[in-house]
Amino acid sequence: MQSLLSTAKFLGRSGTLKNQVFRRIACLAALPETHQMLQKTCRDFADSELVPHAAKHDREHLYPEKQIKKMGELGLMAIAIPEEYGGAGLDYLAYSIAIEEISRGCASAGVIMSVNNSLYLGPINHYGTQQQKENWIVHYTTGEKIGCFALSEPGNGSDAGAASTTAVEKNDRYILNGTKMWITNGFEAGAAVVFATTDKSLKHKGISAFLVPKGISGYTIGKKEDKLGIRASSTCQLIFEDCEIPKENILGKPGYGFKIAMQTLDAGRIGIASQALGIAQASLELAADYAQKRTAFGKPIAKYQTIQQKLADMALRVESARLLTWRSCWLKDNGKSYTKEAAMAKLAASETATYCAHQCIQVLGGMGYVTDMAGERYYRDARITEIYEGTSEIQRLVIAGHVLKELSA
Ligand SMILES: Cc1cc2nc3c(=O)[nH]c(=O)nc-3n(C[C@H](O)[C@H](O)[C@H](O)COP(=O)(O)OP(=O)(O)OC[C@H]3O[C@@H](n4cnc5c(N)ncnc54)[C@H](O)[C@@H]3O)c2cc1C
Repeated sequence: MQSLLSTAKFLGRSGTLKNQVFRRIACLAALPETHQMLQKTCRDFADSELVPHAAKHDREHLYPEKQIKKMGELGLMAIAIPEEYGGAGLDYLAYSIAIEEISRGCASAGVIMSVNNSLYLGPINHYGTQQQKENWIVHYTTGEKIGCFALSEPGNGSDAGAASTTAVEKNDRYILNGTKMWITNGFEAGAAVVFATTDKSLKHKGISAFLVPKGISGYTIGKKEDKLGIRASSTCQLIFEDCEIPKENILGKPGYGFKIAMQTLDAGRIGIASQALGIAQASLELAADYAQKRTAFGKPIAKYQTIQQKLADMALRVESARLLTWRSCWLKDNGKSYTKEAAMAKLAASETATYCAHQCIQVLGGMGYVTDMAGERYYRDARITEIYEGTSEIQRLVIAGHVLKELSA
């Protein structure tokens, strides 16, 4: 079946969409038509397929299975993966735009999509052999199967180099032992990219990455977390007890795992920045809509300057963070270094999401505090974007490290 993304690419090239009207962000006009079409496709999908179900999925901790499959049909589960492996073959700017729109409708669907695209498929596409790409990518592009990325452990999160899960070489196999924690998509995932140390004495240089299929002996799923937000996505422990995997399942070379993890997280941070933008944009739209409808002291609250100031500050932060995010995409798409810029984008967008969701609740007053309206969900969903794929403190360390290097005397 031809995906809508292929159609978008075709329509974008053929110029038939010149007169499309989009109702937001002035800078959108600067986007190529392909990306404008993609944005509209994702926005329409989010409005019709995600928004109506997001509250129920959140409340009941339900994985949005039907929606993820449809997203797969649209090509959204493997946006930047080459077409020969079943991906949409688009760039990272397209990826960012799509994640923002999906997350505007449902931030849980946004993170499920982001983890599959950047954290699972991304490193396999970059470091995998031809055979690994055929085995581990192709079935994970359609939404039927999703993957996960297992780096964090109970004893280490920010300090990823301190991984204590071990992989011991034995004949033609590696034997994995250890527990991974906080793994997004862990419950549903058909396969995991797992980081384990093959040589503890080398510290982070002894870490390697492995491709591990679900269902093999010694691989079990542990506790499923009960979370504040993004509750329709699963977060689990993965437990490895004498789990034997063939040697050919190593990704890259032995000892390359830390490098693979850090490079993967650079790209992943663009995904989380985009997820945060979606939450922030949804908060802004909800606040602006409510402010024009809600009357107090004889006029709509949007007429009061204190409310206008909130809307102005929200819009300013959203557009600033979006430009930072798109800049990091542009750098990545053009083969330039983007570690600092992705950290800046993630930091700015995640703090913007928290700020906008907070202000949205304030504009909604009491209606912001109850589940009848989406403001309280945006507030809960926003908070994680400042924690996973590197906390805000870690983003500041990354940025400062680059700044000090650039400005060293
Ligand atoms: C819902 C959810 C989903 C997740 N999904 C995944 C996943 O799919 N795969 C995966 O591998 N991991 C995942 N994680 C883990 C996540 O990346 C970590 O929680 C995060 O990196 C922080 O690690 P930590 O929780 O161990 O906190 P810690 O590292 O213990 O940090 C605690 C506090 O100390 C601060 N801190 C730590 N070191 C420094 C420092 N050097 N300087 C200043 N401050 C510092 C932190 O910023 C934080 O404020 C997920 C987490 C959650 C909650």
